[in-house]
Amino acid sequence: MAPAAERKDFAATAKLKDVMGKYYAELMRGRQEGRKTAWCTSVGPAELLRALGFGVYFPENHGAMLGATRMATDLIPLANARGFSPDICSYLTSDVGSYLKGESPFQKMKLPGPPRADVLVFNTNQCRDVKDWFQFYAREWNVPCLGIHTPRAIGEVTESIVEAVSRQTEALVRPLEEAAGAKLDPQRLREAVDLSRRCTVLWKAALDTAAGVPSPITFFDGTIQMGPAVVLRGHPDAVAYYEVLLAELRDRAAGGTAAVEGERFRIYWEGMPIWGKLRDLSAQFMALRTCVVASTYCNSWVFEDLDPSDPFRSMARAYSSLFICRSEDCKEQYLATMMARFKADGILYHDAKTCPNNSNNRYQLPQRLRERTGKPFLVVNGDLNDLRLYSEEQARTGIEAFVEQMSQG
Ligand code: SF4
Repeated sequence: MAPAAERKDFAATAKLKDVMGKYYAELMRGRQEGRKTAWCTSVGPAELLRALGFGVYFPENHGAMLGATRMATDLIPLANARGFSPDICSYLTSDVGSYLKGESPFQKMKLPGPPRADVLVFNTNQCRDVKDWFQFYAREWNVPCLGIHTPRAIGEVTESIVEAVSRQTEALVRPLEEAAGAKLDPQRLREAVDLSRRCTVLWKAALDTAAGVPSPITFFDGTIQMGPAVVLRGHPDAVAYYEVLLAELRDRAAGGTAAVEGERFRIYWEGMPIWGKLRDLSAQFMALRTCVVASTYCNSWVFEDLDPSDPFRSMARAYSSLFICRSEDCKEQYLATMMARFKADGILYHDAKTCPNNSNNRYQLPQRLRERTGKPFLVVNGDLNDLRLYSEEQARTGIEAFVEQMSQG
């Protein structure tokens, strides 16, 4: 086999570092200067919090940083010792361990640790763990923990679901106004929803360039590039960043620039990233001339239903339409559509031990989808953050055999 090509950096990445650095610096400086801080789950009501003037902090992003830096491995046992099971979300246990030990990747960025919350706001659309996670800090700091309880395994997102979730979101306004010490300005909310939607449209367009052959972007690039879509939704910096990234991707696509030189096969990634092994996995796929073209994970921050003229209901619809809270039938349909759109030759399921919510190989979905699409699948056992649950050798061998299988198919 020819020697592996290098991963191709994006010119936009320099700007990405600036945007993310500015976000964290402003968040932490604001906290020190007395600005109120709200913690928010990754698909919580960020637009509402921004409109109320909070500095908005997303601890799942910190969880991913703890995984990517592999700090998680030493920190998880500290949370286990305080009664959080090793079987529950390893974002939660890494983050709580980081808090207990007072160590964070932020310190390497010359920033103080995560900002203390004045209020914590969750949405259970993704899992129950986020509520338990936030309640830990609410007890520690004696601050309110508020949230939205979204139904799970949703088939059709009906009007009654939208109505129920919308009412729950509206019911947050009064306690959030109290925590913010400010009244909600409806115009600011509409603006935040509009910015969120524009961010989403651009991020989706960037990911959609991977439908081209060869793909100009990989899933591994996407896990880095998605930062602003997660933490700056509803902020103009995210919109400005994705305009730049999209232009670069379109240039790449127009010039036939492949993210994986000599792309032979295309794979869809289903499930969480294995944060501490992204670099190794990217290198392995690169060497196998196989591009992981798309993923449910990166596409989870695409909220096309957002509508500034109807903020609460459109937020409710967007956040209840999320893949993770949908029924098996909806998931199967979504994956079949995505595999066709991105011309995937196969699909890899990451069975993340501590996140059953994002592990979709456990109820026969891979078999049903293979039957439907005729495409092979591979299950890789591992975890998002707890590398003790990941066998490098097993994953490496499995991936090699999977690509070999596709080359014979
Ligand atoms: S969805 Fe999974 S990884 Fe995310 S917070 Fe919930 S349990 Fe953790």
